[in-house]
Amino acid sequence: MTASDAFSLADLPIRSDLRGREPYGAPQIDVPVRLNTNENPYGPSPSLVEDLARVVRENAAGLNRYPDRDAMALRADLAAYLGHGLTAEQVWAANGSNEVIQQILQAFGGPGRCALGFEPSYSMHPILATGAATEWIAGAREEDFGIDPAKAVAAIEEHRPDVVFLTSPNNPTGTALAPETIAAIVAAAPGMVVVDEAYFEFARTGTPSALTLLPDHPRLIVTRTMSKAFAMAGTRLGYLAAHPAVIEALLLVRLPYHLSTLTQAVARTALAHRQELLGTVDRLRAERDATVDWLRGRGLKVADSDANFVLFGHFPNRRAVWEGLLERGVLIREVGPPGWLRVSIGTPEEMAAFKAALEEVL
Ligand code: PMP
Repeated sequence: MTASDAFSLADLPIRSDLRGREPYGAPQIDVPVRLNTNENPYGPSPSLVEDLARVVRENAAGLNRYPDRDAMALRADLAAYLGHGLTAEQVWAANGSNEVIQQILQAFGGPGRCALGFEPSYSMHPILATGAATEWIAGAREEDFGIDPAKAVAAIEEHRPDVVFLTSPNNPTGTALAPETIAAIVAAAPGMVVVDEAYFEFARTGTPSALTLLPDHPRLIVTRTMSKAFAMAGTRLGYLAAHPAVIEALLLVRLPYHLSTLTQAVARTALAHRQELLGTVDRLRAERDATVDWLRGRGLKVADSDANFVLFGHFPNRRAVWEGLLERGVLIREVGPPGWLRVSIGTPEEMAAFKAALEEVL
């Protein structure tokens, strides 16, 4: 037996604030119906696959050189997509919105600082805060998973957080926030406010984006991703819009050349084909609304959803329901408050398989 045989994580001189923590853990299980990570189930068309392959080939010859460190062309394309008069100087991009959020916490959080979120919400926000040595304060959502502006303002006044996280539409509940709620929180917050709009494109028509608040609020950051509606989760491209000064702050913590040449080129190609990629959003919204109706028709509790997933319950033993579905080849997510489960919206065939499996399990 060597010294390393009996060695484990507990023996390492890891930071004390990481000791005993669990890593992010959506299971990656190879089953026929994967409805657990809120991806878009529709892959690129054969002609878009051709275009993606072509830009990879075109860029391959230059891979001996570092990429554009500031990703200016991509940021200009993202600004044009977002609209609202935004320019490349107000847009920043990284490897998934997770990296964007990590950079925000590196720049605006840190030792002695704290971040506040309203739970249940996206589990990576506290994990990224901890990784950036930022204390996490868990505020609460209401029973309908909305945020009460008066209570939120009171929590902000009590804790004086350096960063506030608002997720809209929220993961895992699907709840969208009213712009007045966001505005009240931004007005009260002493530091940065991040509105995580990863699922914005799935919101019901007429839902305003927090981007509308940017001109009056230089400490507001709106994050987005190409992982969900844009059907590009494998590309790893997230981005944000904010005052140019915020982006100057992020340049202090980003790794040089963090976005590879291939990532930038593929993301720009996807943006150029946004009509095709976002063309599935209406279908997914309709499938979502049909799923909500179907689940309610079975007497289940379902949270109103503006996203591409649905939180439903309430099960005395949700683990048994989750396992029963998995045994039938359907992977959903055991997440949210006790008793609830979350299903991502897939193709009509996948949703039919989910419904058939759930009927059997129940
Ligand atoms: N924000 C929210 C609310 C999410 O649900 C996710 C992905 N599950 C992300 C951010 C991160 O996505 P990505 O890093 O792929 O952009």
